[in-house]
Amino acid sequence: AWPLLEVDELRVSFPLSGGNPFSWNRPRIQAVNGVSLRIHPGETLGLVGESGSGKSTLGRAILQLEKSTGGSVRFDGRNITHGLSSDIARLRQQTAMIFQDPFSSLNPRQTIGAGIAEVLRVHHKVPPAAIAARVAELLTLVGLQPAQADKRPGALSGGQCQRAGIARALALEPRLMVADECVAALDVSIQGQIINLLMDLRERMGLAILFIAHDLAIVRRLCDRVAVMYLGRIVEEGPVEQVFRLPRHPYTAALVAAIPEINPDLPLPADPLAGEPPSPIAIPPGCAFHPRCRYARPSCRTGSTPDTRLVADHAFACVLDRNTGEADLPFE
Ligand code: SF4
Ligand code: MG
Repeated sequence: AWPLLEVDELRVSFPLSGGNPFSWNRPRIQAVNGVSLRIHPGETLGLVGESGSGKSTLGRAILQLEKSTGGSVRFDGRNITHGLSSDIARLRQQTAMIFQDPFSSLNPRQTIGAGIAEVLRVHHKVPPAAIAARVAELLTLVGLQPAQADKRPGALSGGQCQRAGIARALALEPRLMVADECVAALDVSIQGQIINLLMDLRERMGLAILFIAHDLAIVRRLCDRVAVMYLGRIVEEGPVEQVFRLPRHPYTAALVAAIPEINPDLPLPADPLAGEPPSPIAIPPGCAFHPRCRYARPSCRTGSTPDTRLVADHAFACVLDRNTGEADLPFE
């Protein structure tokens, strides 16, 4: 099957705040720095990394909610980045985004039923007589009571609002959903329910999901593949079990080692994420992870970014040679 989403060498930069806004050479923050990824129909790709790594910006740029400054996004075979407005309209109709704060995607003055009805009218031109039934159907699908259609977001709990937000997103009948930390603010039991709901929707509707999260345990439960982002780049990508069991990039190893329940066999480095946290304002030369990497060689500190290497369907951008025992990472 063809990928539903193909992202190639995508870049997003912003002018740094402050300084002269009219200057042509104002410094810029490179938030997304040449990202390539694929998502197939029915597949869930997790996107992990510390805050400031560019995950949210990448998600927004994929959905054209943020302007990219280079590279391309293809959705269902069509190039959206330089696409026709009809292709962009199609992307808008077939994709949806859900956020961490469920209240942000809901209008506080509108009942949740009215919010969903609006989407149905505008995007799918559902005849007025059929709208109420479809609203009830969508609410049931996400585990809410049809009677809750009359409630405003303020009268619902956080978990109920997140479900209502998902119901509204589903009213679009999306083929691709970008979920940005969509369970991070919820209680553990509600998190589990929302994850089960997403797994169920993927199963039933073939929904493709880009699942942005910092919680590796949730990513492992939900996702087929995982991409690890560091300072605007993907440093490792592969099947989720393989990446968490045999991380090939020291940054991934540090993230995984910090959570022993993910992989108890991984040796825990003394200080897994020592050193300065990433700042996209001054990206280090060479391998951007080198100031925090305990395996860094002199050549990692200068020169170009390490090439991405591929072992089967597992990609990683690090120069370490796994076979010479250069690092105490779990090698094959
Ligand atoms: Fe560490 Fe060098 Fe690998 Fe970067 S390329 S992660 S600095 S060993
Ligand atoms: Mg974010």
